[in-house]
Amino acid sequence: MVIELKKNVSKEQAELLSKTYNAILFKEQEGFVLVTSSKQKEITAELEQAAKKVTVTSSDIQLAGKEYVSTKRTIDFGNFSIGGNTKNTLVITGPCSVENETQINQSAELCVSLGVKVLRAGAYKPRTSPYSFQGLGLDGLKLLADVRAKYGLKIITEVKDFSHVNEVIEYSDIIQVGAKAMYDQGILRACSQTQKPILIKRGFGSTLQEFVQAAEFVLSGGNPNVILCERGIRTFETKTRFTLDLCGISWLKEYTNLPVVIDPSHAMGFAYGVSDLCRAAVAMGVDGVLIETHPTPKVAQSDAEQQLNFEQFTSLYHSLKPIAQAVRYNIV
Ligand code: PEP
Ligand code: MN
Repeated sequence: MVIELKKNVSKEQAELLSKTYNAILFKEQEGFVLVTSSKQKEITAELEQAAKKVTVTSSDIQLAGKEYVSTKRTIDFGNFSIGGNTKNTLVITGPCSVENETQINQSAELCVSLGVKVLRAGAYKPRTSPYSFQGLGLDGLKLLADVRAKYGLKIITEVKDFSHVNEVIEYSDIIQVGAKAMYDQGILRACSQTQKPILIKRGFGSTLQEFVQAAEFVLSGGNPNVILCERGIRTFETKTRFTLDLCGISWLKEYTNLPVVIDPSHAMGFAYGVSDLCRAAVAMGVDGVLIETHPTPKVAQSDAEQQLNFEQFTSLYHSLKPIAQAVRYNIV
């Protein structure tokens, strides 16, 4: 149950109610909000008196659900936004990992040349093997900060574990919570303490319910700026790296109020399928796409097989506009 308290309810009163009813308390612009378990269906007279609006929810998809907010949330990036009524499909691209200054500058130049506003690259990489390249860490974040200053791009980079979450929040414009980190509640709670947008990737073994509940950890801590990213789930199929869950995208659009971004690169795992998948996702009307690109994919230190070279990406990028327009979206 979501209980939006009246504006005149003080912090002390709100805290007392939160304790009495075992509810999470956070503050929104409009006032305090209490969230109880969705199993609670009835409200006491005391709560009713303090409440401006009460939403009974059918599952613990509460703040992220359409039952609570029936329209899609807007995520504002300053000079552009996604979600809400914008019908914008944001293109995000960059290499899997920041590898060196030249590589990240080349990637930034690709963005600038096409008008792509958001550069993505990982500094802390959640590799499956401890013997693989683990990312440049803080040095990588510093390279990204330099590129942001030089090219005026927004930066998205991932947090892999709790040890560097605050560092990533400090350096990044958008914080990516990786598929393997989706269940880390320390990370999610830390991300709830900023107002920067948080892009949560779906764990490859996560149900849609679990995925959206990860978002609830961020929303219920007071950060309303959450984006969901479908990046493929594990199925019985082994020919492709994962399986992009297009049904899931429709479900998220129907039942949640959060913008949805699609990552076809990690789903496919091979460059040859990324453009087709990306176009299919854009045709569904989504809030963004995240595509891995590298100046020389062959020598990439992570995810080499799936990264598009600049020529492939440029051709994909130009093909997206008419597809987005056909479903009344704009590429931004
Ligand atoms: C990545 O974005 O480079 C990455 C490792 O993705 P995921 O968390 O989806 O596996
Ligand atoms: Mn990658």
